[in-house]
Amino acid sequence: MTTLASLGFDDFFASQLERVGNPQWVPARIVAEGQSSFHVAGCRAPLADLSGKLLGSLSKTERPVVGDWVAVVDGADRASIQHVLGRRTTLLRRAAGTLDEPQVVGVNVDVFFVVTAVNRDFNERRLERYVAAVWNSGAEPVVVLNKVDLETELAPMLEAIGRAAIGVPVVRASAASGAGIEELLAYIGPGKTVGFIGSSGVGKSSLTNRLLGRDVQAVRGLRGDDRGRHTTSARQLIELAGGGVLIDTPGMRELGLLDDLGGVEASFADVTAFAERCKFRDCSHESEPGCGVTGAVASGELPAERLASYRKLLKEVAANERKRDPVLAGRTKARWKEVHRALRARQKIDPKLKRDT
Ligand code: GDP
Ligand code: ZN
Repeated sequence: MTTLASLGFDDFFASQLERVGNPQWVPARIVAEGQSSFHVAGCRAPLADLSGKLLGSLSKTERPVVGDWVAVVDGADRASIQHVLGRRTTLLRRAAGTLDEPQVVGVNVDVFFVVTAVNRDFNERRLERYVAAVWNSGAEPVVVLNKVDLETELAPMLEAIGRAAIGVPVVRASAASGAGIEELLAYIGPGKTVGFIGSSGVGKSSLTNRLLGRDVQAVRGLRGDDRGRHTTSARQLIELAGGGVLIDTPGMRELGLLDDLGGVEASFADVTAFAERCKFRDCSHESEPGCGVTGAVASGELPAERLASYRKLLKEVAANERKRDPVLAGRTKARWKEVHRALRARQKIDPKLKRDT
């Protein structure tokens, strides 16, 4: 049964609510963001709107996001959000090299599983950045080395993790075999909020499926308590059957994609190296004639699954951009062209990069 405690409400939030001292206000947690309303849990109403006063006074980073605790005036259908309770943890994303206001990526997450995977997906520098971001958020990092079913020689990677994430617990896991899942569950107690971060392709969705013990598609399709209305928005905060809460938002998924050009370059240098052979400069490596990338797959030089991961990453970047900002969406393609251009320039200077990948 869902209770305030099972959703993560504890003394930290209760004492804040007490301090505001309005007996009409009850706590609720944001579980999804709709077009104009918020989906909430913990109060009677399934949907909530910002009060007029908050609408005019909250800055972009103060605006409630999934994971936030708010004080509402409850109702049968809709609640009215009066106050956003102070956050225990805040994961921020700063777009590299810009003066943009930081974006709030995840709030009130107690434990972040920083997922990395063996072999090609492993990148020490990137891991270091993710772990630093988690520490800065106030949450506790746990490194998950996933896909251990693919590699028997883990010592060098564990050593690298030790360097990049000093003092951070490491769980060796395989979403494929189920190894390490019990160990992950040990970090997810009742009322604890957890989230996954890490680059695309490391296995976050697969691990999420394992934790949920059911197909994530089904979970995605679950409507909140919205009683058949507003059916377009799925829950991004999910209570786990064994206790604990999992947050999975587009913002978390895209962390480290767009603002981490170096990481993307490094992870897909093998794919982009073949793009140098493409006949067309702006080739999208789909069905263009003379495409070096699909050609490399055909000739067996590039594993088809690498191209699939690369395409998945591109799609995720585009989808996240669309969700967040339709105007920005158009720029995603231009951005990837930039990545390709930068890579080609670099490879011309440093042919070693090509050989190494
Ligand atoms: P995400 O982008 O981080 O959510 O990664 P996904 O969960 O979508 O996984 C990316 C790919 O890696 C998929 O093809 C998965 O089937 C595969 N994968 C995920 N976890 C494992 C694992 O533990 N072992 C193996 N061998 N493959 C995995
Ligand atoms: Zn191409």
